[in-house]
Amino acid sequence: MAVPQLPVLAIDVGGTKLAAAAVDRAGQLLASDRIPTPRVASADDLFEVLADQCRRVLRAAETDVVAIGVGCGGPMEYPSGRVSTLNIPVWRDFPLRERLVTAFDRPCVVDNDANALALAEQWRGAGRGSTNMLGMVVSTGVGGGIILEGHLLHGFGGNAGHIGHIVAWPDGPPCRCGARGCIEGVASGSGLARRLTAAVAEGAETRLVPGATAAEIAVAARQGDHLAAELFRTAGECVGRGIASAWSL
Ligand SMILES: [Zn+2]
Repeated sequence: MAVPQLPVLAIDVGGTKLAAAAVDRAGQLLASDRIPTPRVASADDLFEVLADQCRRVLRAAETDVVAIGVGCGGPMEYPSGRVSTLNIPVWRDFPLRERLVTAFDRPCVVDNDANALALAEQWRGAGRGSTNMLGMVVSTGVGGGIILEGHLLHGFGGNAGHIGHIVAWPDGPPCRCGARGCIEGVASGSGLARRLTAAVAEGAETRLVPGATAAEIAVAARQGDHLAAELFRTAGECVGRGIASAWSL
């Protein structure tokens, strides 16, 4: 039987935004929509916002879809698709995959957003033509996905490739996972902001104030603020150590 050439519905669920698109087999977006993740009272309310967004996209694309693929902020379980996205407090152990299958009557895969990024980079981005690669996100958090011999690695519970919690700085700053010196604790946006606040509390000289964002720290670093530059220097060093360690592995 020929593989149907219908598009798929792609969804990105994060603590800051919800994005959905109808995507054809060549990777072109036929229609897309992006909204800030609303603060709502219940798990069902948030699901309804997401489902409405998906229906809007399908109407705009004037097409049916053959399947649904979701990249979602962790923690989550693969392949069950139960999600507990850190920055979405109303979803704890929420059966996102099951709910989408019921609402749209299509097969659905829910995976970690960093795994989705790795697959996307291999399909359409920097990893085209690679059968062995690491895809890495350095953002609010630090995540990654590993493609080995052409296959995305999932490992236990779908958590393979979680490079953000490799220790790159022994006895370095604390990470939200409980360890010290993880790449995420040193180099993520939230990690940079926490390190700045801690350094100011210890009397470090800077023109930044506690609570400054990573974007503000970056501006100050470019303008010659020594503390800001040092925070980014060590962040870069730790990202580099993490990549080098992962490459050897
Ligand atoms: Zn960590």
